[in-house]
Amino acid sequence: MSRVTEQVPLQSTLRLPAKARWYAEVADVAQLPQLLSHPQWKQIPRVVLGEGSNVVLRADLPALVLRPIMGGMRVVEWQGSRALVECQAGESWDQLVQWSINQGLAGLENLSLIPGSVGAAPFQNIGAYGVELADVFDSLQACSLVDGVCRQFSASECCFAYRDSFFKSVEPGRWLISSVRLWLDRDREPVLGYADLASRYRALPAAMQNAAGLRNIICELRRSKLPDPAQMANAGSFFKNPVVSAQQHVQLKRSFPELVSYPQSDGSFKLAAGWLIERAGWKGRREGNVGMHSAQALVLVNYADASGEEVLHFASQVQESVRNMFSVELEQEPVILPALEQGGTP
Ligand SMILES: Cc1cc2nc3c(=O)[nH]c(=O)nc-3n(C[C@H](O)[C@H](O)[C@H](O)COP(=O)(O)OP(=O)(O)OC[C@H]3O[C@@H](n4cnc5c(N)ncnc54)[C@H](O)[C@@H]3O)c2cc1C
Repeated sequence: MSRVTEQVPLQSTLRLPAKARWYAEVADVAQLPQLLSHPQWKQIPRVVLGEGSNVVLRADLPALVLRPIMGGMRVVEWQGSRALVECQAGESWDQLVQWSINQGLAGLENLSLIPGSVGAAPFQNIGAYGVELADVFDSLQACSLVDGVCRQFSASECCFAYRDSFFKSVEPGRWLISSVRLWLDRDREPVLGYADLASRYRALPAAMQNAAGLRNIICELRRSKLPDPAQMANAGSFFKNPVVSAQQHVQLKRSFPELVSYPQSDGSFKLAAGWLIERAGWKGRREGNVGMHSAQALVLVNYADASGEEVLHFASQVQESVRNMFSVELEQEPVILPALEQGGTP
């Protein structure tokens, strides 16, 4: 059975101080039923944590924290140029991207350099530069945090949406994702619709116009734009881009002609949260230990030794400003742990 330790300090890219009351690494899901039914943990809340790159640890977790560490990536089957790839949850996401490109498989290059574990990728349907996990997703295995029993989930059962899934919104805190299956392709067309990707890609020598070349471009862009959490503690985009109705979009455009927005297939509009935050005066603004980054208005930074409560208080001020100015609600992207509804004051 997994070894359970007590009062374990937790790592997160926002570098907030928090401990797990109990902590266990899970190397094999076959251990879960025995671990979860043990009399000592039977009544204790369970929380899964990966690499901590999308959480706000607002306090110590009075829970059994499970960290999936199972590793391995393989091609399960080929169908012509397409390969069904299976990867275990404990692998690092970016290592999977690099491995798939080494196999000559395309599909993940736009998702290069996203921090975190493979098991967390479906949780919020990670996405960047015009591609989401859902675009290449086949299925996953997840294990119940009640009894440790595992089952397969198809793409439709995962209810993927913009930075959202069944595991984040429908049954939060009920499943440990243990492995993920993706369809990758030797002949996949590159996805170049985002910003100036197309011109950068076409400027590459012909021999580099492939998934590896596109990965290099994405890595360069990300390194030049996003603060590295190792240098400056952050959790990437702190808010989701809000979606508004066509009617509200017309009203907003009337008041703010330079509003940055993207039409969606259902007639709604996605607004650039970074633009709203900048316009509301928060880009580069710092209060105490916390601020919004001076070059990336969407990235909240812990400059020194902020607590989780300081981060949440600062974020709520940004939300309030944007609400007052645009009548638009900013939804936080990282998950707050312990969840506010699980007791304790916010
Ligand atoms: C600098 C930076 C840039 C980023 N850029 C992007 C980006 O471009 N696109 C994007 O989508 N995200 C981005 N993120 C967010 C983050 O990288 C992803 O959300 C990532 O998938 C989180 O992985 P993790 O292992 O760190 O998860 P954690 O932060 O440990 O956990 C996040 C949530 O997922 C749950 N979870 C974790 N693992 C599992 C599992 N195996 N089973 C069930 N639930 C699980 C946790 O309970 C928690 O609720 C960025 C973050 C940073 C710091």
